Formats: sequence, C-alpha cells, structure tokens
Amino acid sequence: MSVRDYQPVIGLEVHCQLDTASKMFTGCPFHFGAEPNTQVDAYTLGLPGTLPVPNARAVEFAVRVALAARCEIQRVSRWARKHYFYPDLPKGYQITQNDHPYARGGGLEVPGPKGAEGDTTYVRLIRIHMEEDAGKNTHLHGERDSLVDYNRAGAPLVEIVSEPDIRSAAEAARYMKELRAIVRYLGVSDANMEQGSLRCDANVSIGPAGGPLGTRCEIKNLNSFKFLELAIRAEIRRQRDLLARGLPVQQCTLSYDTARDETRIMRLKEAAADYRYFPEPDMPPLVIEPELIERVQEDMPELPAARRARYRGLGLSAYDAGVLTADAGLARYFDAALTCAKEHGQREGEDLVTAKKLCNWITGELLRRVNEDERGDVRLEPGRAPVEPAWSAELVALVEGGVISARAGKEVLGKSYAERRAPGEIVERDGYRQVSDTGELSALIEGILDRSEKQVAQYLGGKTKLLGFFVGQVMKATRGQANPKVVRPLLLAALKARA
Ligand code: ADP
Ligand code: MG
Repeated sequence: MSVRDYQPVIGLEVHCQLDTASKMFTGCPFHFGAEPNTQVDAYTLGLPGTLPVPNARAVEFAVRVALAARCEIQRVSRWARKHYFYPDLPKGYQITQNDHPYARGGGLEVPGPKGAEGDTTYVRLIRIHMEEDAGKNTHLHGERDSLVDYNRAGAPLVEIVSEPDIRSAAEAARYMKELRAIVRYLGVSDANMEQGSLRCDANVSIGPAGGPLGTRCEIKNLNSFKFLELAIRAEIRRQRDLLARGLPVQQCTLSYDTARDETRIMRLKEAAADYRYFPEPDMPPLVIEPELIERVQEDMPELPAARRARYRGLGLSAYDAGVLTADAGLARYFDAALTCAKEHGQREGEDLVTAKKLCNWITGELLRRVNEDERGDVRLEPGRAPVEPAWSAELVALVEGGVISARAGKEVLGKSYAERRAPGEIVERDGYRQVSDTGELSALIEGILDRSEKQVAQYLGGKTKLLGFFVGQVMKATRGQANPKVVRPLLLAALKARA
C-alpha cells in the first residue's frame, strides 16, 4: 500500500473553561474581558501560606459535562501538581488530575457533513479531568518585553480527551462543534473559541487503514474551527511527505503557522518537558457523591443529539435538524415557535404551520436577517430575538393560510423585525392581505381578458404558455395582492368559457 493511501487518525484534547463566578481553587472572581491583572488574589499569585479549595460549582459543572458525554464518573479522583516554569504560571505548577481523573469513558455522537443521513460517527472519550488555567502572555510584535495577565490564572477548566477515533480534519471540526453545542446546552461555558474559553490540541498520525497506528504529533492551541481543520490538513500533508520520502515521523509538538499554512515543530518528544507530576499535598482526594450525580442528572437539559432525533421525528431533514440544534438558543426559539404554532392550529382547527414550514422561515429569512444585523448582540433565541417566536408562527400561518402571499410574507417579516411588531398588525396596517375574493377577482379577470383579445385568441389556439401572462396581469392589477391559488382556476375557467 502506498503512503498516499494512508489514513489519518486524530485524537483531540479539548480545554473548556467553566463559567463559574470564581476560580477553580479560590474565591477570586473571574470573568473574561476585565482589565488585566485586576482579578487576582494571593492564591492566584502563588503567595506563601495560601491553600487551594475546590470550587463546588465548578465540580458540579464538570459533572454535567461528564454525564452529557455518558462517562463513568469516579467517586474518588485525585489532584496532582504538574510542574513547569513559565511566566504565566505564578505558582510554578498547575493543579490538574493526572492518573485519577474524575471521569472516564463515554463518547459523543457526531453528525455527518451537512447532517447527512447515516453519516453520524461516534467518537469515544478516554477521560475528562478538571484543572486550573494558566495566565496569558502577550508578545507584542517588535517589542523586547512581553506582557502577562494573571486574570485567567486559576480559572476552572475541564479537559476532554478523545480516543483516536476521528478520521478527517472535517470530522474533527464537527466533533468540536458538537462539543461546543453540548457545553452551551448545559450552560456551563460560553465556549467561545476566539476568547479562548474553548481550545484544542490535535494529535495526528497516519497509517494503513485498519493497521497499527502511526506515530502521533500534537498540534497545540488551535483556537478556531477553521484553523483546526487547516492545521490538521497541513499536518497530514507534512507526514505524508515525510513517509513518501522514506523518512520517519518523529513524535513531536507542533504549532500551526496560519500565514504559511504549515505546521512547525516546537519540540521533539525526547526534549519534552518532564512535568514531575506528584499528588497535590494540600488537598484531599475529590469525592463526588452519588447524590450530586443524581441531582445533576435530574435537571439535565435535552442535548443536541436527542433534539436532532426529535426534530427528525417531526419530519425535518437531518440537515434542518442539524442547523436548528447547532445553537442552543436557536433550538429553544424553534421549540417556542412550534408550541405557538400548535396552539394556533388548535384555535383555528387547522394545522397550517408544519415543523418544516416553520423551520424554513426561521432558518432562512429570519436567521439571515439576524446574521446580517449590524448590532452584534442580536441573537435568535427566546427573549432576545427581534421577532418573537409567536410572531414567527403567526407569520407562517398567514402565508400558509393564504392571507398573504409568500412574497408579502418576506416583507412583513422584515417590518416585524425592524419594528418589533406582530406580523398580523402589519398586514392590516399596510394592507398586505391577498385578494382571495372570487367575485372581485372574477370581475377583474373578465376585464383583463376583454382587453387582451389577441392573447386570448393565441391561448385558445394552443399557446397555453400565455397563462402566465394573464396571471401576471391580474397580479399587476392587484399590486401583487391577488392570491395566485385562487387566480389560476378562475382564469382557466374564464378562458375556457371564451373558447
Ligand atoms: P498524552 O497524555 O501523552 O498526551 P494520551 O494517551 O493521553 O497521551 O493521548 C493524548 C491524545 O492523543 C488522545 O486524544 C489520543 O486519542 C491521541 N492519540 C493517541 N495515539 C494517537 C495516534 N497514534 N494518532 C493520533 N492520535 C493519537
Ligand atoms: Mg497531551
């Protein structure tokens, strides 16, 4: 088998910052975006005499993540010190969990590309452990000095380590997106890659399909979905080139150079840091009682995979279900709109608004407007969206019930969005109601046919394509407000009568 046919094998180590009010082992508050070095205390700075105390809320959040990924939660886990010297680490070590993580096993269902049917993969997890974050160094271009911000030092993290089950760069990105969706559904992290609350190291190797695994190389600190994908592709290229030239792949740590689209070796494994792990002497083992697990399990929200399955059951395509569930807010918005549609249907005795129709309007016209909105804080979620979920249901009912045309629907939605007003109100105020009255339309049609003798003769002579012309005339005469579903049969009958 040629090296060109070697398959990539990828395992990800994902760091996710937990959105607690205070840090992992100290009551010191922490939130993103504060002035540098304003969120520090004696513990954060590693001053003598300070002692770590685990943050109960962070432990609870970590349990949520582990339960969502169906891990086995360990009743007893242990803290360990991982030593290295670097200016972003005031204590000279990081507290983490080494040989005794709080969660093992489990895995995630990862939707296929475009949510395609049958392409779902399952990526197993090795473990999840808790740890504290380091501070942040900033190296200004061309400056001799670097800056360090200790705000982030000590922030709570979980590190989610996958088995090497991922087979492509694109799948790695989909896995990351699924993880992001899950932690957002759980409400434990804003999982913002740009702000660093979700980060990823990617381990990559290549080898013959089904054969022994190749030597892995680890790309550090990938902070966007795009770079994650590009970096893995670049690394696969690098390894293929080496092997094709008969050179071995050496285990190493790499960084991704975005400008050159290449991975670059930072250090070889032989030179890898010796972290001198040892058990943390200042804290007893962490005990997670079954009561906590039960409590967390009880208020577990519906997760993306379950939601996708539910939406499929409503007749939505895998693609639509994927789009709706990728964002927790959007999924909640859709659910709220769907509930309103059902209530509406019960009132009117008619189920005009199907899940599919609602999904089309919400993920099409409405989502486009939200994405194009210059105000950055507009989101499509209940309570924040300019168009309330009930209004989306109302709009679709207006269109599907033939009260307004689909084209008018788009305009009404635009106004509803801009003015934060119910579509029904706008329809009445601005006269968007379609003309469906057959008497009124029949009279109009007769008039048009009288005035179009030539076309009527051509139509009756077999040029049936001219029907479109007549429909157009009716629309013009009604300023687009005639209901085409009513117009067509009336026109056909009127033309037939002139034969
Ligand atoms: P370490 O603790 O030294 O980083 P781990 O065994 O915990 O090593 O593995 C770290 C990551 O490397 C895991 O996500 C795992 O899936 C991945 N991995 C292990 N072997 C390979 C391989 N041959 N190719 C790709 N990824 C691998
Ligand atoms: Mg590692």
